[in-house]
Order: sequence, then C-alpha cells, then structure tokens
Amino acid sequence: MTYDMLLLRFGEFTLKGRNRNRFEKSMLNHVKSVIRPFPKAKILKEYGRMYVELNGESPDALIEVLRKVFGLVSISPVRVCPSELDAIIETAVDFIGKSQLSDNTTFKVNARRVWKKFPHSSHEMNHLIGSPLLRTYPQLKVQVRNPQIELKVEIREDLTYLFHEAVSAVGGYPLGSNGKAMLLLSGGIDSPVAAWSAMRRGLEVECVHFYSYPYTSQQAKDKVIELTKILSNYAGRIKLHLVPFTDVQTSFTGLGQDNLMITLMRRAMLRITTMIAERENALAIVTGDSLGQVASQTLPSMNVIGKATDLPILRPLVMMDKNDIINLAKEIGTFETSILPFEDCCTLFVPKSPTTNPNLRIVESIESSLVDLPEKLQIAVENKETIILKNGKQMTKGDNESQDEVVKEEWF
Ligand code: ATP
Ligand code: MG
Repeated sequence: MTYDMLLLRFGEFTLKGRNRNRFEKSMLNHVKSVIRPFPKAKILKEYGRMYVELNGESPDALIEVLRKVFGLVSISPVRVCPSELDAIIETAVDFIGKSQLSDNTTFKVNARRVWKKFPHSSHEMNHLIGSPLLRTYPQLKVQVRNPQIELKVEIREDLTYLFHEAVSAVGGYPLGSNGKAMLLLSGGIDSPVAAWSAMRRGLEVECVHFYSYPYTSQQAKDKVIELTKILSNYAGRIKLHLVPFTDVQTSFTGLGQDNLMITLMRRAMLRITTMIAERENALAIVTGDSLGQVASQTLPSMNVIGKATDLPILRPLVMMDKNDIINLAKEIGTFETSILPFEDCCTLFVPKSPTTNPNLRIVESIESSLVDLPEKLQIAVENKETIILKNGKQMTKGDNESQDEVVKEEWF
C-alpha cells in the first residue's frame, strides 16, 4: 500500500521541559543522518514529533532504519489528503480497506480538528467518517475502549493526516543528549552490547581497545574496528582509540602473582582510559561487565578494579543473563563478528586460577613496586592510534566530514 508520510513519535524525554529543544535537535540530526540514503525523503518538524515525507521512497526500508533511531518510540505510516470532507472520507475508506479485517474487527475514529476553520467539529467528524466505514465494511464493529483499529484523523489547514498502525521503535534518549563516556571495547559479545545500551540511553561513546602485539594479531584488531563500524551505524560517527598494551601487560608477568594478573590489567586499562577521558571530556567509563560472569566480575573484583579510577563506571549489562545479552547482540548485528575466534589480550595471559577475591592492599603494593608503571601508562596513551568511523565506514585523512549533503528540512 502506498503511504505519503511517516509519523515519528518521541519517547520519555519529551517530558523534560527545559532540555526539550536540545533533545529535539539531536533527534533531528540523527534522523537526518539515517535518511541520507533516501534522497527524496524530506523531514517536517513539529512540536513534540516529526514527519518524514516519502515522496516515493519505500516506507518499509525507511521504517527499518528509523526504528533504530534512539529516542523514537513508534512510527506510523500516514496517508495524506486535502482537508475536504469528501476527500477525507474517501481516503479513510480506502485506508481501512487495505487493513486486515476479520469478522468483528473493532474500531473507532479519533478525529482532531487542528484547523479550527474546518466546518465540522472533531466530534462530528468521528461520525461523518465512521458511518461510511461501517456501511462499506459490515465486518467492522465500533468499540470505544481499546479497539483493534483506532483511525486517527488530524485535520490541518491544507492537508489532513490519517494513520492507525504504529510500529514500535527502539526508544531511549536522543543520541548524545546525556553526555559522553569512554567505552571499553573488547572483541567479545558483551562490550558492543554495552555500547549500544549506553548509546540508547543518550550517551555519546568513544571506544577504547587495548591490544598486545605481537601476542594479539592484526585480525583481532580488525575485528574490533569491524565492531565499531557496526556501532557507527547507530551512532552516526564514533571514535575508536587503539591503545598498545604489550609493555604494560608484560610488566605484570613474572611477579609470581599470576592470579592477580587480570585485576592488575583491568586497573591499568581503567587508568589509561581515565587519562584519555580527561582529554576527550568524557565523564564516565562504560564496560561490558556482567555480575559473576568471570573472576574479574565478582563483587570483590569489581570493587578492587573500580578503585583505580575516580570516574563512575557504568555497567549496562551488570544484571543481565548471558542469553539475553546474546539475543541483543544478534538484534543489533554485532554477534556474528563477536564470535570470530581471535584472541583478546586478556584471554592471552589468563592464569589457571584468576582470583575472585583480590586484596586491594596487595594489589596496591604490587603496583607501587613497579616504578616504571606510571610512565608506561603514559606512553601507552601517547602511542594510541585514533580512528573515526562514520555510518559504517572508516574515515581516512582528507575526508571532509562537513561535505555531507544537506537533507531538506522544513519547520512548521
Ligand atoms: P566481552 O564479551 O565484551 O569481551 P568478556 O566476557 O570477555 O567481555 P572480560 O574479558 O572479563 O569479559 O571483560 C570485561 C570487560 O572489560 C569487557 O566487557 C570490556 O568492557 C573490558 N575489556 C576486556 N578486554 C578489553 C580490551 N582488550 N580492550 C578494552 N576493553 C576490554
Ligand atoms: Mg563478558
């Protein structure tokens, strides 16, 4: 069936009065970036919602990309007709006729006269549209409470909008509307899901990945770049900091404290990430930790590891079961890449029995005995490589980011 527009509804953030403008602006930017591959589509913005005019673009393809825009709760395909009684009735009859109607499908008409000069009131319009629908489709039955079909009819000055279905969208907060955090990205299943969850809550994330050449391969690094690419399809633009970790990591080997390896490595990762966060003005660190999943994710471990930074550590997956995390990974499209079998620097030196209950005093005394450690952390930061991924592509030097075509936009 052909539609004319899509109506995009915003989520909970619309309640927050003061931030509303800022939130709506970031929604607008996000919508603009995802509809870029549909050149005929045009955005119409209105207080509290947004429309996308199709102008011949495929509604299904657009709904598929728009469903992923953070902050949108639902999308309705809309039919448009002139604001004249006959045209409205004719469109309503055609529109409802295209829906799946069975015997006793319940319905009601919910008309709203936005343009007060239209000659019939909202209440009159409910009847004027409802009667011909009942006559044309005898299987319909009026039901005021919870009908299966609620045909909404918005009568505006020039045009009238009709819609009834709503496809659910991802919800959350507009991208980047709640500040910026660093995200510890390994090549595993969990951390990309943590990234997506953080972005859905309105956080802009910059990914930080630690690698250990020659112990970890180029393929392991490429895998993380690939995961970040997938994430950039949600974020629009995302930074990935690749940090060489070999020197830091090897300073923890041969100390006779193998069971504390992971604890020491994680604390070093947090320290380095905190330094990068300061430079990038990020105010939190997000990880893919899930309570109890492995030795470094028990409560005692989280306590000792977390003390290495003053920044809040956000763990979106902390209370989730692995199966639910896997399902989300499949949904957002990172799972297949995550399960590619390349080693992570943490799995590399994993001791036979990593501690589940590290002792902070011992950990701190080991760290202070390593006099070179602060310098090594600093060097790791200096030697990091930063790449930018945008809409599923890696940006290379010389790419002018401001050259993006401007999407037509209209305010009313
Ligand atoms: P994931 O499935 O995301 O790889 P995991 O199950 O392997 O996590 P751990 O190895 O204990 O779990 O890692 C816990 C968290 O520490 C990860 O979710 C990630 O946030 C961070 N992390 C682990 N390895 C790295 C790395 N090489 N670079 C950056 N962050 C890492
Ligand atoms: Mg994990």
